[in-house]
Amino acid sequence: MPQRILVTGGAGYIGSHFCKALARAGRVPVVYDNLSRGHADAVKWGPLIEADLRDGAALRAALADHGIEAVVHFAALAYVGESVTEPQRYYDNNLGGMISLLGAMEAEGVRQIVFSSSCATYGTPEALPIAETAPQAPINPYGRTKLVCEWMLRDAAVGWGLRSVALRYFNAAGADPEGEIGERHAPETHLIPLALMAASGQGGPLRVFGADYPTPDGTCIRDYIHVADLARAHLLALGHLGAGGESLALNLGTGQGASVRDVVGSVAQVTGRGVPMILDERRAGDPAELVADPHLAEKLLGFRAEITDLDRIVADAAPWFGHPRGGLRC
Ligand code: UDP
Repeated sequence: MPQRILVTGGAGYIGSHFCKALARAGRVPVVYDNLSRGHADAVKWGPLIEADLRDGAALRAALADHGIEAVVHFAALAYVGESVTEPQRYYDNNLGGMISLLGAMEAEGVRQIVFSSSCATYGTPEALPIAETAPQAPINPYGRTKLVCEWMLRDAAVGWGLRSVALRYFNAAGADPEGEIGERHAPETHLIPLALMAASGQGGPLRVFGADYPTPDGTCIRDYIHVADLARAHLLALGHLGAGGESLALNLGTGQGASVRDVVGSVAQVTGRGVPMILDERRAGDPAELVADPHLAEKLLGFRAEITDLDRIVADAAPWFGHPRGGLRC
């Protein structure tokens, strides 16, 4: 595995969990983050360079000054709804950031990158579970920015020898099992945090976005993967690139689906509290079911999600949303 790693977005949710895993593996993460969404106090395992990705001079200096050998690129805007209402902002930030980052890497001779892609690049799937060979037809600007970034990686491979692993996350969830870092989004839009907040009496009842989907209980099904598993997958991807491995694009999921009602049941079970909820309209752009075929990552990286029990995932997240760790039933 390369030694010196630049972690863009390392102050964010998944990025900070990766930094902890990287430090555990004996490396020092150099975090590059503009703190627009991340938190400086989540950067605990190495230096923080507070700068924007679109600042090419700052990026080149970061790569050169720290002798960076590989980049793990998390930094991006990642709210689907916001991407629909503010599309240029998403293209500017996510594509502008990637163009700037690849330019700086080419200039400084850094030729390995692990990229945060998304199952949003698939859009509404034609078949389940979703394999990497499925058509990529995103249905919102966020997903489109991630897909174009994947294309940029492929073009940079041809153009100047970049090697990359694009990791298509399904639903990142949970928090550091040791409780050191967690999920803190503002505004919070994700199901597990909102259900936990509703159970602790914060923020009003959970709005269930649609109970008339063609699924067994009528609510949407997603593949929730523990953030610590995601972090470990990035280490394996870096190891693959460091050993001279070829470019890859891989799903990261568990292969198991959970419905909104399953999540609500798990939150009630783990916290011992009811989850006040109201049925609401469907949310625009929500496919009924997204579940990964996770086998290619297992075959090519040796990665398999380990913390697949939904109650375990919810229990790790719960202390960050008003539930005392000792009171959890898991
Ligand atoms: N969801 C919901 N109420 C909420 C937030 C989410 O019913 O307040 C549903 C949402 O429609 C989707 C699932 O929960 O079916 C997961 O949504 P989330 O925003 O966590 O992740 P996404 O799948 O959109 O990336």
